[in-house]
Amino acid sequence: MSEVFNVADIFGEDVFNDSVMQERLPKKVYKDLKKMIDEGKELDLATADVIAHEMKEWAIEKGATHYTHWFQPLTGVTAEKHDSFISAPMENGKVLMSFSGKELIKGEPDASSFPSGGLRATFEARGYTAWDCTSPAFVRKDAAGATLCIPTAFCSYTGEALDQKTPLLRSMEAINEQALRLIRLFGNTTSKKVTPSVGPEQEYFLVDAEKFRQRKDLIYTGRTLFGAMPPKGQELDDHYFGTIRQRIAAFMKDVNKELWKVGVTAKTQHNEVAPAQHELAPIYAAANIAVDHNQLVMQTLKRVACQHGMKCLLHEKPFAGVNGSGKHNNWSITTDDGKNLLDPGKTPHENIQFLLVLTCILKAVDTHADLLRESAADPGNDHRLGANEAPPAIISIFLGEQLEDVLEQLITTGAATHSLKGGKLHTGVSTLPDVAKDATDRNRTSPFAFTGNKFEFRMVGSRDSIAGPNVVLNTIIAEAFSDACDILEKADDFGAAVHDLIKQYATEHQRIVFNGNGYSDEWVKEAEKRGLPNIRSMVEAIPALTTDKAVRMFEKFHVFTRAELESRAEIKYENYAKAINIEAKTMIDMASKQIIPAIIKYTKTLADTINSVKAAGADVSVQTDILREVSGLLADTKNALTALSEVTAKASGMEEGKEQAEFYHSDVFAAMEALRAPVDALEMIVDKEAWPMPSYGDLIFEV
Ligand code: ADP
Ligand code: MG
Repeated sequence: MSEVFNVADIFGEDVFNDSVMQERLPKKVYKDLKKMIDEGKELDLATADVIAHEMKEWAIEKGATHYTHWFQPLTGVTAEKHDSFISAPMENGKVLMSFSGKELIKGEPDASSFPSGGLRATFEARGYTAWDCTSPAFVRKDAAGATLCIPTAFCSYTGEALDQKTPLLRSMEAINEQALRLIRLFGNTTSKKVTPSVGPEQEYFLVDAEKFRQRKDLIYTGRTLFGAMPPKGQELDDHYFGTIRQRIAAFMKDVNKELWKVGVTAKTQHNEVAPAQHELAPIYAAANIAVDHNQLVMQTLKRVACQHGMKCLLHEKPFAGVNGSGKHNNWSITTDDGKNLLDPGKTPHENIQFLLVLTCILKAVDTHADLLRESAADPGNDHRLGANEAPPAIISIFLGEQLEDVLEQLITTGAATHSLKGGKLHTGVSTLPDVAKDATDRNRTSPFAFTGNKFEFRMVGSRDSIAGPNVVLNTIIAEAFSDACDILEKADDFGAAVHDLIKQYATEHQRIVFNGNGYSDEWVKEAEKRGLPNIRSMVEAIPALTTDKAVRMFEKFHVFTRAELESRAEIKYENYAKAINIEAKTMIDMASKQIIPAIIKYTKTLADTINSVKAAGADVSVQTDILREVSGLLADTKNALTALSEVTAKASGMEEGKEQAEFYHSDVFAAMEALRAPVDALEMIVDKEAWPMPSYGDLIFEV
């Protein structure tokens, strides 16, 4: 057995968390900082200086040489610029270590190269990072040594959000304010704050690093652009929850250890459906912390994989033919005194506050299904959502038998009088205990499922930041709460008014509820009848960001301005076009420099063989057939390559924006598929020795 350790000892040891602050900061400073964290009060510079000094001393004790403002620009990944703690040398030639309050609170990276979608022209390169004191600083240890990382938000000179964090924090404020209004109506006078909690389940693939290096497509795009299916895929379901192999177990152990040290509550790990696919889930946390932690999870998976001679693939669809990866975003809202507003209790039909919250969520998701769909759109997710794989691109809500029944009672009779019970699960084996059953079974096909006391948004891409989806969830639900409170606060008879409103919302938004099989063709037809949007691709999803209803809502709750939304839409079109352009160019490169030359060589070997076998007087019909087939596919490959090169050149010559992205989606993408087909067919008939790169079988079955 390898090294053992006590989790409780190492958990959070590299985090400047509450207990460290309490221990190291003067009482008054600690109190001011807590006020800032809990109530959003401003911090004066003198206090910030004290905090910065203590943070620096603590980090240096941990071996830190540098600090960085750790932020999340619109690239989907985190960014950082490192500064060492050293100050100018003194007369005696020595240096002191310094870190001021100003440096803690504000950073000014040269922001000109981050995507801003026209918000910040390059000559106006100023962008500021500002300390997000609600997410604790931590020391990260890697090949660069130890670095103090300070979670920050990133804004332009004029205050526009250039990152994922700023709108997330704004949306958390919006839902806090509106949820407080709602619970006050029900007589809650004690809760001071309502926070959305998020638990993201992260899926990923592991492949051998040596094989990864032989695949240009994995190197440049994170997914395979060619590859025939091996004889076995995932049809036996023998990988899902299977015993974790030793090489992977050793990797997981190190991942957990690294994550625990920086305070990430890595909790669950298991093998996923596809071969070489795995999952890691933390315990849920406040949305902004969950977002930061998910970034840390993704970075740690990648870093530790390298240390174990593997590569971690976070792409949504690394391999055609087996499942891709996603991120289930579990979401709930809880008061500071621990009341989960999504907890139905044992008898949901009597829980009026819960029923109002629930029907508000139905309304929010129905009204803004397009925005929610957009929040999960990314080039990789186009291979999953609405393509050959789950979840479907149509947003619907799964409530389960119990809640659906309550809703049904409300709609038909105007009052809910009873709740279905879970009962006991009888195992039929006398030595096994009968287990208490949930009142509701699970539904794996729904993109938005109620799972006990939380909603699970299952569309999010595995590589994406979870900030975007949570900004949308927080804001659309804040809007629904606000609309409800506007009505209820004015009502003379609250009891009657709330009853009517619940019934009204349940009736008006019933169409969004679907408890059946979301993967079936019947559902696609049924959803169309109900008028639910079926948005099949990223380019079709992006316009949702700038509709009048979206702009009105985001501006009302101060989450995004119209300019910010327009810039985000622009960035997304650009990102899509760039991603497909890189994929197309990689295919062109691989086909011209690796695949076609390998096939030419192979046909020559075949032809030589045919000649010598013929000379020996034997039958060459099989060799001749293969040569003919291979040569035919080679010609198809060459033609498809020419077509792809032409259409890619045309696309990259277009002006950046919506039309260009649409052209990449319709024409370039189709040409890529057309090139892939003959190449995959060739892989099936050409001698394995002659194939210029590891196969799917090598990659996913031999990690
Ligand atoms: P599954 O069986 O679907 O994998 P789990 O019960 O393992 O679901 O939970 C998945 C994630 O949901 C975990 O990150 C967990 O911490 C999180 N979670 C559990 N309860 C809540 C809640 N009330 N709010 C938000 N997330 C939650
Ligand atoms: Mg899970």
